[in-house]
Amino acid sequence: MFFAEPPRSQYDVHFRLFGFPVRVHPFFWLITVFLGVGIGRDRKVDLAQLLIWIGVVFASILIHELGHALMQRRFGGRPWITLYAFGGLASCSDCDRSPRSQILISLAGPAAGFAFAVAVVVLLRLTGHVAGIAPGSGQRAPDGFYALPLFIATVFWEPLASRPANLLLGNLFWVNIGWGLVNLLPIYPLDGGQVSREVLTLSNPRRGIVLSLQVSMVAAAAMAVIGLVAWGSPLVALMFGSLAYSSYQALQAYRSSSW
Ligand SMILES: [Zn+2]
Repeated sequence: MFFAEPPRSQYDVHFRLFGFPVRVHPFFWLITVFLGVGIGRDRKVDLAQLLIWIGVVFASILIHELGHALMQRRFGGRPWITLYAFGGLASCSDCDRSPRSQILISLAGPAAGFAFAVAVVVLLRLTGHVAGIAPGSGQRAPDGFYALPLFIATVFWEPLASRPANLLLGNLFWVNIGWGLVNLLPIYPLDGGQVSREVLTLSNPRRGIVLSLQVSMVAAAAMAVIGLVAWGSPLVALMFGSLAYSSYQALQAYRSSSW
């Protein structure tokens, strides 16, 4: 994802990972807890469940941003990572801004999450468990297996002995594959929005940005309707509704600035 970097706060957590400076803004924890409590909906979320969720989101968003940062470094940049609100960002002042590098940098985030999920499946198999990823979200897993439908794929695994371990796997696959796929939608400020902007600008330098903002607006509005009607989630509808509106605002601002 990309969006404006948040201001520094005294509650920021700082550390380095693979040479990249990492800053975790307090809103990151706040929103993660909020989403974790929301996940349970009518069910009660216990503390263990919430801690597993926070750990998974923290590790997964970090892996996603590491994907972006490693690709930025490959193109000669010296990026830093910020974890904030609904995700994070890998930014740099000296990054290669050419469309081709920007497309690869944007795709590297979701790709890192997918690779991590596949690595977990491989690890499960290597330790003698049955697990896999099947195409299609309506796949039936073998009897007695956990099956997690994720839009275009279903992850299934043989239940492990402990409940927390199964919760950990479920959260992990959901964040790394599910969020990764959502992130690829051609919506600003998701990674897919950035890819769509670069691709459309390459094919139509004069109108690329306007086209990508229009695509973003329509895709976000469609997702808001899907969220509300198909998934029955006002939260998803609200999130995508506000993204559709901000794309609309960006479009108006861009048009008035270019005249
Ligand atoms: Zn990203």
